[in-house]
Amino acid sequence: MDILYGNDVVKAMSEQIKRELDNLSGYIPHLAIVRVGERPDDLAYERGAVKRFEKLGLRCTVHSFAEDIGNQAFSFAFDDINNDNDVDGILLLRPLPRHIDEKAITEIINPIKDIDCISPINMAKVFSSDETGFAPCTAEAVMEMIAYAGIDLTGKRATVVGRSMVIGKPVAMMLMKKNATVTVCHTRTVDMEGACKNAEVLVAAAGRARMINHNYVSSGAYVFDVGINVDDSGYMCGDVDIDDISDIARLCTPVPKGVGTVTTSVLAKHVLKAAKMRREQ
Ligand code: NAD
Repeated sequence: MDILYGNDVVKAMSEQIKRELDNLSGYIPHLAIVRVGERPDDLAYERGAVKRFEKLGLRCTVHSFAEDIGNQAFSFAFDDINNDNDVDGILLLRPLPRHIDEKAITEIINPIKDIDCISPINMAKVFSSDETGFAPCTAEAVMEMIAYAGIDLTGKRATVVGRSMVIGKPVAMMLMKKNATVTVCHTRTVDMEGACKNAEVLVAAAGRARMINHNYVSSGAYVFDVGINVDDSGYMCGDVDIDDISDIARLCTPVPKGVGTVTTSVLAKHVLKAAKMRREQ
């Protein structure tokens, strides 16, 4: 079984991003990261994004707010960033604290700056295969890895485990756009093993440590592991038991160093696209 590391995909994407940046006649696209509180997951993602943007020569500004900021104060502050002409893309780290009306924010974000697809307008575009919007970065990272691996999805049987709006559903839509025949599994699926074993391409995004073992994988399958979990020993692991499937699958992405590594490159690609779209407006 081949292991597809995120870094290989990142390298290829970085070259393309740098070429596109050269075509912007000196303009440097600008991402605003908006964070409320200090959740370790958010901080880790933020650090990764800041580092990637630095490497690519793109601008990235972090706007952090106290965990107890009021709903109205946050909404006003968010609106300022949203209306700032110097900002091309906005990454809102979620979930927000409960007292903040997250849905209201998803409705006011300017869709052209919504580079991680929180706006219902961009989500509708993913579902209608309209490429003028932005898909969620992690979901698109899976598609970037599939493309890098050179997998022609046309006519292939693909199974996605997970039906969330950030990963499972958008990945299913994007696989379908590439002409795969898609099955989506979730907590109420009967015979999930069968549905997974039937797949030539398997995307695991359930958030269940090493759930996908040899019982779920068919011979020669391409397996993409989106899950980020902590196992009983405190180690980070994916949804796939990679050692258990190594004699069966054709290719698998590891966790860590897999899909998650590619996500910030998709973020950069989206900010470039947003900057271009705004300049063409
Ligand atoms: P979620 O909890 O919103 O959704 C999980 C989905 O999996 C649900 O639709 C649920 O029905 C399904 N599911 C859960 N247990 C299942 C089971 N036993 N059998 C079948 N289906 C099951 O999670 P999410 O936000 O979609 O994230 C999924 C995973 O991806 C998590 O581990 C998360 O940490 C990880 N993640 C990774 C990245 C990355 O950059 N790699 C980014 C975001 C999230």
